[in-house]
Amino acid sequence: MLKVFKFGGASVKDADSVRNVATILRKHSPEKLVVILSAMGKTTNALEKVLNAWYESDERLNTFIQDVISYHQGIIISLFPDKNHPVYFKTDLLFGELEGHLHTPPSLDYDFDYDQVVSFGELISTTIISEFLISEGFNCQWFDVRELIQTDNTWREGKVNWETTESQIRVQVSGFLDNPKSGPAIALTQGFLGAATDGATVTLGREGSDYTAAIFAHALHAEEMVIWKDVPGLLNADPKYFSVTERLASISYREAIELAYYGATVIHPKTIKPLQNKDIPLRIKSFVDPESEGTVITQNTSADSLIPSFIFKVNQVLISISPRDFSFIDEQSLSEILAVFADNSIHISLMQNSAISFSVCVDHNERRLSELFEALSKEYKVRYNTGLELITIRHYDQATIDRVLEDGKTVLLEMRSRLTAQFVVRPS
Ligand code: ASP
Ligand code: MG
Repeated sequence: MLKVFKFGGASVKDADSVRNVATILRKHSPEKLVVILSAMGKTTNALEKVLNAWYESDERLNTFIQDVISYHQGIIISLFPDKNHPVYFKTDLLFGELEGHLHTPPSLDYDFDYDQVVSFGELISTTIISEFLISEGFNCQWFDVRELIQTDNTWREGKVNWETTESQIRVQVSGFLDNPKSGPAIALTQGFLGAATDGATVTLGREGSDYTAAIFAHALHAEEMVIWKDVPGLLNADPKYFSVTERLASISYREAIELAYYGATVIHPKTIKPLQNKDIPLRIKSFVDPESEGTVITQNTSADSLIPSFIFKVNQVLISISPRDFSFIDEQSLSEILAVFADNSIHISLMQNSAISFSVCVDHNERRLSELFEALSKEYKVRYNTGLELITIRHYDQATIDRVLEDGKTVLLEMRSRLTAQFVVRPS
């Protein structure tokens, strides 16, 4: 049996968490396992901070780099008491490479530079954890995912070349899993990363490690994919915003895609399709309580509507776009407007149009929005409101709507379909 396990940042945030991963693997590994790892803890955010300091010639750059390095060194020292262990040499090389890179000037293609810098998080985490598993007696092999997943050069959002990727994974990873030298085999690699045809590192979008795991599950016809998380499964609301939440024991691929699309952050939106195509069940399990059941996502739709789900997105911007000459919003103008969003890689979470204006709700991304506004403002009048929330309720009824709107939020825009109600609100 072959499974793919994905461990996110929270599951490897310190030395004890890494030991816990080893314990889970000891108990729950099938004979053949692919392990996909994220960067440790909040490393991706920390590296984004490094990148921005680099771009802005911020004098704190070196401090930020050292923060990333010492955080990992603390974990390494705790996991490897023997200072001669090869992990010290291997991670020092990576730290040195990162520092070296940041002591040359940026290329001025921000998204390209992003991928070259932020990818160190996964390269470092997998180096540490594969060495640790080997030291614990696992038959584990580290793979450089950039030799397995090939993408185009859409930096920060690499589009996978499936044909090349599947064949590279099959040749290299199956080659190892099918002929293990000793004991059950673990192929371990980085989530979130791939490489363009020229070998340059590309990332797959924030939280992209789930997607990586699905790519491997698909390519290798895995029996199951498991995402190990710090929550007991897929919940019907984010515990950050709701004091009472319920676990969804089982939902369909389709419902999972809907939830992810509306902004539920539990699973990366691109994760489901590769699994659905091959009917591979996706389990969400707790790394804190690995024996508990979690959530299973399959073709089966029978339990989908039993529990309403709530999705909150904060830091939203509502943009209203109208032609300067008061002409109608027609098919032609809509397609022009949408093309500008696509060109700037801005995802629209909700859209609505009237005769002379088109409204959209998007995440607040300063850099991308200012380019969007510039491109649109030649032909259109653009107005916007910031600091908003987007609330989506799947399988809503009046009581659930009343509940989310009760504390005096102002509704700026609302939309209801048969299964989904959405509100753009100003928080009270
Ligand atoms: N480390 C990346 C991120 O934090 C990818 C992931 O964790 O899925 O977005
Ligand atoms: Mg994650």
